[in-house]
Amino acid sequence: MSDNSVAGKHILITGGASGIGAESALLLSKRGANITIGDLNEPDGNALVQRINDEGGQARFCKVDVSVSESVEVLFRTAISDLGNIDVVINNAGIDHDPKFMLEIDDATFHKNIAVNVNGVWYCMKHALAHMMGNGGGHIINISSVAGIRAAPTLSAYSAAKHAVVGLTKTAAVEYARHNIRFNAVCPSFVRTPMVENVLSKLDERGQKALVRANPMKRLGEPQEIAGAIAWLCTPESSFMTGHTVVLDGGMTA
Ligand code: NAP
Repeated sequence: MSDNSVAGKHILITGGASGIGAESALLLSKRGANITIGDLNEPDGNALVQRINDEGGQARFCKVDVSVSESVEVLFRTAISDLGNIDVVINNAGIDHDPKFMLEIDDATFHKNIAVNVNGVWYCMKHALAHMMGNGGGHIINISSVAGIRAAPTLSAYSAAKHAVVGLTKTAAVEYARHNIRFNAVCPSFVRTPMVENVLSKLDERGQKALVRANPMKRLGEPQEIAGAIAWLCTPESSFMTGHTVVLDGGMTA
């Protein structure tokens, strides 16, 4: 196997039915990886798995709610039973919330963001870790955001959750480096996915322009551009990298 290969690796992607997760699944499958997609969205997840398998890849879908520990347990059990030991877990499932200042965000919205974006990553990291400890190692890639490394006005609950994801990534990387388990985070700015299309649909023309042009490149990222970086992280070429964030933001945080 060459150093840039993912061929034969079993890669589990949460939130893999849509957007960044779906593009990552397609790219990694084209490069020879076997894919488990875990997602709440059963129809889109099954359709993507069908497409990958029709194109000669190997993929399975398992419905999961990452905010529920028991559901995550079933996901890992099913994935291992279907496609064998897992080499890489991509914790990508996530939600945002309507843009509002803190005083206008209700507690339920805050708790829901923490439940999916933090508890979900926590449960998946714990299950991945337990599996990888008995399996000689692995790599856990957490999808955070530029909102996880800087202020995100009107997105305080999301920003709090994404900062937590970076904290979990860094701490786990140091704790488990000697066990050959790596952890890295990916931090995109606005990317053209259903999540962002939904935000854009709620803005007037001026707001849409401001969002799209919020970085020095003056454009949205494409999901393929994020998937490319994630795919590289999945290869042995990234083998000396752990506990860090890959920032893909068109220069927003430069
Ligand atoms: P997306 O298109 O909305 O896809 C997210 C997927 O996750 C959907 O299929 C969604 O299912 C699923 N999901 C939501 N809650 C879940 C849960 N509790 N359990 C399992 N699956 C769940 O989003 P995306 O834009 O690709 O975002 C992917 C990740 O990148 C997220 O963590 C997001 O925060 C992060 N990110 C995105 C951007 C961006 O601009 N797009 C920027 C920075 C970071 P449903 O459709 O049924 O809800």
